[in-house]
Amino acid sequence: MREGSLEAPTRHPLDWENPDFYDEAKLDAEMRRVLDICHGCRRCFNLCDSFPRLFDLVDESANGELDTVASADFKKVVDACTLCDMCFLTKCPYVPPHEFNLDFPHLMLRYRAVEAKKKGIGAADRALAETDRNGKWATLISGAVNWATRRGGPMRGLEEKIAGVDKNAELPKYAAQTLEARAKANPLPRNAAGPGKARKIVLYATCYGDYNDTSIGMAALGVLARNGVETKVLNPHCCGMPKLEQGLIGEVADAARKVAAAFASYIDQGYDIVAPVPSCALMLKFEWPLILPNDESVKKLAAATFDLSEYVVDIAKKEGLAEGMQSIDGGVAFHMSCHSRAQNFGQKGAELLRLIPDADVAVVERCSGHGGAWGYKKGNFETAMKVGKPAMRQLDAVGKKHIVSECPLAGIHIEQGIESLAGDAPKPERVGHPIVLMARAYGLASER
Ligand code: SF4
Ligand code: SF4
Repeated sequence: MREGSLEAPTRHPLDWENPDFYDEAKLDAEMRRVLDICHGCRRCFNLCDSFPRLFDLVDESANGELDTVASADFKKVVDACTLCDMCFLTKCPYVPPHEFNLDFPHLMLRYRAVEAKKKGIGAADRALAETDRNGKWATLISGAVNWATRRGGPMRGLEEKIAGVDKNAELPKYAAQTLEARAKANPLPRNAAGPGKARKIVLYATCYGDYNDTSIGMAALGVLARNGVETKVLNPHCCGMPKLEQGLIGEVADAARKVAAAFASYIDQGYDIVAPVPSCALMLKFEWPLILPNDESVKKLAAATFDLSEYVVDIAKKEGLAEGMQSIDGGVAFHMSCHSRAQNFGQKGAELLRLIPDADVAVVERCSGHGGAWGYKKGNFETAMKVGKPAMRQLDAVGKKHIVSECPLAGIHIEQGIESLAGDAPKPERVGHPIVLMARAYGLASER
């Protein structure tokens, strides 16, 4: 819920195809207008590192006002933004329709788009954002890749120098088989009499779900099949979030067109599209329609897309879930990720967990600090740990057996942060998504 405004926030389309969007003088004027409002307001002081950096710049300037802060220093503010959207969605009273018309995350995105156009993107950053290409080859040699990228491994110093990935950051592992291949090799029996028998979905595997942690997709397919839902798996293209982080809006638009085209005929046949990663669901539902507001396929896809937790809870509410779940051993500390919150649908992951008999769920709704690939880059990792510390401490303090975030990279980051906290109590076991625990409750195996 957003503070301080009675009207529902709206978000304007991104004007990225207008040459003015890239005009540096106009961008500077807009940065000064918005940052000055933020300096006067300061509500967002504890959300991330962008705002403290801004307020330090102002407080340490010659006259304590924004007009004596050098424009070159605005980059420090922009660089700390993970595009989590929390300032826009939970704090800011000045978002449209307010006359101040503030959209802080989209201004940070515009700054990055202008920089990307002017200077280009470094080879290492570009390589990191090519998640489809990386996933395709890395799954072929996953043993070697996982060995070479393991934390504390002998290659990490070199990788830090070449790829700009902080040597201390835990990185996602690659699967030996993609989700698409695994699902094909292990077809799951569908309970044709299940409560969701009238439903059919395409699971948008996503890069992370297809190439890294396939347990999430297998658990989702298992739970949905048990409930009678007809399922297919497709991974037509990355949603483009890693490119959005770098301001490559045109490339995100290309990704949107490709994915929307791949799903169009399924939507026409009555399939819902289900995304297991909140950032990817957010892209399909909200960001793409703001990037391509006149594209009918993108609009149609946005209307047909559900977040995985949202979808299972919807079945439970409308048709009820299939019987047969047993309680799981131990409680669950659930991290509500920023991109789940940004979908504005309540705590769907926690609702899903509470559908498991006798579930003991504690919810922590604070940013993990990670922000996608942003959080494991050299120069950002320390900040990501600092910003995430309060969430990590709270999730550890509730003393549950399991820990889970719907955001897979946040989950890995939180697990690493909790490991470093003092105390002799056993650390919680991380699972990849609440659906994995529900699959266990149904007695369905979903190892990685
Ligand atoms: S989008 Fe998130 S990281 Fe960026 S400024 Fe807003 S709260 Fe901070
Ligand atoms: S984004 Fe909005 S709420 Fe946050 S500091 Fe700026 S004006 Fe205030």
